[in-house]
Amino acid sequence: MTFVREKHVDYIYGLDKREKDSFEYYVTEHLRMSGVYWGTTAMDLLKQSHRMDRDRIIKFVLGCQNSDGGFGGNIGHDSHILYTLSAVQVLATFDALNKLDYEKTINYVLPLVKDDGSVMGDKWGEVDTRFSYIILNMLALLKSLDRIDVHKISTFVLNCQNFDGGFGAIPGAESHAGQIFCCVGALAIANRLDEIDKDTLSWWLCERQLAKDGGLNGRPEKLSDVCYSWWVLSSLACMDRLHWIDKDRLHSFILACQDPEKGGIGDKPENMSDVFHTFFGIGGLSLLRAEPDLKMIDPIYALPVDVLRRVGIESPYTKRFKI
Ligand SMILES: [Zn+2]
Repeated sequence: MTFVREKHVDYIYGLDKREKDSFEYYVTEHLRMSGVYWGTTAMDLLKQSHRMDRDRIIKFVLGCQNSDGGFGGNIGHDSHILYTLSAVQVLATFDALNKLDYEKTINYVLPLVKDDGSVMGDKWGEVDTRFSYIILNMLALLKSLDRIDVHKISTFVLNCQNFDGGFGAIPGAESHAGQIFCCVGALAIANRLDEIDKDTLSWWLCERQLAKDGGLNGRPEKLSDVCYSWWVLSSLACMDRLHWIDKDRLHSFILACQDPEKGGIGDKPENMSDVFHTFFGIGGLSLLRAEPDLKMIDPIYALPVDVLRRVGIESPYTKRFKI
């Protein structure tokens, strides 16, 4: 199958044009902020974000900020660090960070760091290495990493590495590819990737590629799924070991998960498209450099390289590859 570029553009554009309350494509109502990030970033990688309704999207994003400074997954929803990062990412993509109240936003995330360096997702206190990555990514985008103890936060992440080389949500928790992406990204931002056993971790990641279909899974014994093209590939890219997997077979697997008629990408061949897998599929193709005319995505920040440059971030990945 070939890459049905225009169909994907139409698919995402069509979703953006729907009426406000039929945004079910953005997964579910409470995840809408993340959906906007997946949709706009995918469109930007396809070099078509100018076709989206920038003003309406910015208004929506800013409308999700609560009085505590955090952003909810939708207007009127409770703040969570996850949606706060998505909000910052969308504003960065649309070159609209000047509309953000930096102090208010930063003051929401600072108290989420605990004494042991772990990071909570919201006021309810769940701790997870995903949130360690999120706070570092977000404050890097806002040029405010000096506001937190980066060493303490990244030390907690290092303590979550397992004997198999992978990382879990907390010390001792099972390795999982999504979690590994977050931990590797966090350590890359903290400039501490040299402190982990990259070879053991990269072997674990390579073993996620299935001989059966060339796709990648997230854990041993699981089926392949397009979103792992992102979690696994980005981690390997950060460690300069993208060539450890069979790129051609993964490329074919991602293309096989496209909907050739309506556009979009599903988790597996024949499954219905959704904006989450569309974004991570296109992100994977960008990292593979498998298709022409896609913007380069940065594996650490999960944003296009040119967006990062605009906010003044030259990530180690882009430096290494002189992109
Ligand atoms: Zn998936």
